[in-house]
Amino acid sequence: PTMAHSKALLVLENFIGGKFVPCSSYIDSYNPSTGDVYCRVPDSGKEEVEAAVKAAKDAFPIWSSKSPLERSQILNKLADLIEHDLEAFAQAESKDQGKTITFARTVDIPRAVHNFRFFASSILHHVTECTEMPAMGCVHYTSRAPVGVAGLISPWNLPLYLLTWKIAPAIACGNTVVAKPSEMTSVTAWMMCKLLEKAGVPPGVVNVVFGTGARAGEALVCHPDVPLISFTGSTQTAQRITERSAPHCKRLSLELGGKNPAIVFDDADLSQCIPTTVRSSFANQGEICLCTSRIFVQRGIYSEFLKRFVAEAKKWKTGNPSDPTIDVGALISKEHLEKVRTYVKKAQAEGARVLCGEGVDPLALPPGNQKGYFMLPTVIAEVKDESCCMQEEIFGPVTCVVAFDTEEEVIRRANSVKYGLAATVWSSNVGRVHRVAHRLQSGLVWTNCWLVRDLNLPFGGMKASGIGREGAKDSYEFFTEVKTITIKH
Ligand code: NAD
Repeated sequence: PTMAHSKALLVLENFIGGKFVPCSSYIDSYNPSTGDVYCRVPDSGKEEVEAAVKAAKDAFPIWSSKSPLERSQILNKLADLIEHDLEAFAQAESKDQGKTITFARTVDIPRAVHNFRFFASSILHHVTECTEMPAMGCVHYTSRAPVGVAGLISPWNLPLYLLTWKIAPAIACGNTVVAKPSEMTSVTAWMMCKLLEKAGVPPGVVNVVFGTGARAGEALVCHPDVPLISFTGSTQTAQRITERSAPHCKRLSLELGGKNPAIVFDDADLSQCIPTTVRSSFANQGEICLCTSRIFVQRGIYSEFLKRFVAEAKKWKTGNPSDPTIDVGALISKEHLEKVRTYVKKAQAEGARVLCGEGVDPLALPPGNQKGYFMLPTVIAEVKDESCCMQEEIFGPVTCVVAFDTEEEVIRRANSVKYGLAATVWSSNVGRVHRVAHRLQSGLVWTNCWLVRDLNLPFGGMKASGIGREGAKDSYEFFTEVKTITIKH
């Protein structure tokens, strides 16, 4: 290709009322593995959000009156179309986000497909409640109806995966939506819009406005005709959304950050625990809300664990995300990489030991990736519980390993952070795993495994990790309004 051709930028457009519409201004989007600007994303504001909400409102009467079966068939068709283009979606997600092509191929895009199939099926199986009061001659029953225009706001770490986790239940239940993906990872949402018409999604049912949180996101949160907001992102942004939506008393679902503990008892099967905990720490560059970042190991096995854990972490290869043999890709942005590095420096300044990774081992990158935002998996030991590395969400390939003595002590220490999203417990004592799981302040507890999900069951966090749950029944409840009807005969 000529220089001009190779430098041609991908330019995205908003998708409103079934049509792609250009925007008056754009934001640069970077390829995190090269540091180059490769795409321009609409910088939407109030005007674009207004048009999208209007299109969604106009589409609501027709879409909400379709039967669940009709909607289910459309969702299944959309799933098939995304699956047909799986490789193109995976390539785009890897390029846009910095994640490895392997992760995008095996996790992100298959899960996006599954989200549509799952809710296409799930919506067919709900039953409402009915009670009788014979003495009063009454029966009561509940009915559920879609709420209206749903505002959906998603983060950059699992772009299409998390956006479809919201779009699928919202439209399956008969709502219409205005979605705003992260301005840093907008490409796969735009690609999905190209398939909607073919899938049979009527114009206006799914609208996507691209842009920043401050402009497009807030315009959506503050719009009076958007009665519910499903948000996944940071706790700080959730606070802002709560404030801004308060005058409208909006229904909010907030899926936020974590500081997830792994607790390893001395009777754990380390041959399972170590590779899984390396994965739970470093998968997707540690940029998953469910990633482990505090590992508590019982004192008797602490040094053996540390030795084997570091050896396993060093096996993870960092480099060009499009190389299928690579385990760790690039972090999302230059700013984020700097932030993650700062945490490692702070830990060192406090006297903690960095056992591998950042600042300890050499990072060799291919010539084309020298300006990318890479960092090696980093393991830190001897960190104090009150250190910012043990309290704050780092959201990068950094994990801390510390020793503990008793069950009572480790429960207290695991709970001593503001977050409560996901915990893992490793032990072969069944009584202990139940006891500990019940006492952890965490929306999800995995024992002897990590990230095994059944979408039927609730997903979400406690404390600063969120409000509300999502899943088959929970999403159905969130995206519908319930009514109790009483009939006297
Ligand atoms: P973020 O909060 O910065 O942004 C998330 C989204 O909100 C983006 O689309 C952004 O543009 C938008 N936004 C920002 N400010 C806004 C505002 N004032 N009004 C409306 N929208 C606004 O989060 P991020 O950095 O993109 O994502 C990382 C965070 O997401 C981490 O904290 C991570 O733990 C969390 N996360 C949570 C889950 C979960 O399910 N609990 C899943 C993935 C990520």
